[in-house]
Amino acid sequence: MKYSEYKPRPDLLKDRIILVTGAGDGIGRAAALSYALHGATVVLHGRTLNKLEVIYDEIESLGAPQPAILPLQLSSASPRDYELLVDTLDKQFGRLDGILHNAGILGERTELENYPADIWDDVMAVNLRAPFVLTQELLPLLKKSESASVVFASSGVGRETRERWGAYSVSKIAIEAVSELFAKENTHPNLRFNCINPGATRTAMRAKAFPDEDPKTLATPEMIMPAYLYLMGDDSLALNGQSIDDQD
Ligand code: NAP
Repeated sequence: MKYSEYKPRPDLLKDRIILVTGAGDGIGRAAALSYALHGATVVLHGRTLNKLEVIYDEIESLGAPQPAILPLQLSSASPRDYELLVDTLDKQFGRLDGILHNAGILGERTELENYPADIWDDVMAVNLRAPFVLTQELLPLLKKSESASVVFASSGVGRETRERWGAYSVSKIAIEAVSELFAKENTHPNLRFNCINPGATRTAMRAKAFPDEDPKTLATPEMIMPAYLYLMGDDSLALNGQSIDDQD
């Protein structure tokens, strides 16, 4: 199926509680808006509070369900921070119907020979450790859902290594493995795990990775939303442990 042709029902995510990480900008921002406009109560996670407040206001002004805001710096989050996050979600909602693990950083575009180890650590913390720990911590709330979908953001360089993508490529290959393992080990009937490779998309991260590219030649985050809706909603119930390419 061509995901760009997927037509979600307007109420696809009605009454769902969905956490979107990195919701303040780029693809995460578009996904949060799109999920809210399809009926979800979106928990807006990010590290920059004012960006989350802007999107909160935007969602409210569109008449979509009132979202929640959950700021957390993923590169330095402590066990206590995760505990508080789970507590907050538990008290406010008592369950979780989906997570879009979208937050990510690019790191350096350089050979491993010269790759700075501190940047390596940062990329691994945000792109790999945080989605693993968050999923692990939130499993009890996900298991309370009638139908929960966990989606990890991958990349073309998450399928096979590519020169000068360093920690980013390694983190994305590893997150595909994490998603697959959660899927294989899961025994809960109402819970599934998949990856999405958004493909080249007009965001700050893409501009940093390809500074000489004309952004106007790229899909906007809004244009790639059908696949994000598909994976989060029940039309993809049969998918578990898969990795899809948004723009193919
Ligand atoms: P982006 O515009 O740079 O947005 C990334 C988001 O992640 C931002 O909201 C950012 O928050 C948040 N974030 C980064 N570090 C964080 C941290 N330490 N703690 C909490 N939040 C953090 O990137 P994007 O292009 O939308 O990418 C979204 C996802 O798609 C990423 O996982 C990326 O790897 C993947 N992807 C993108 C493309 C593409 O062409 N754009 C292609 C393949 C894969 P702030 O705004 O506060 O910095």
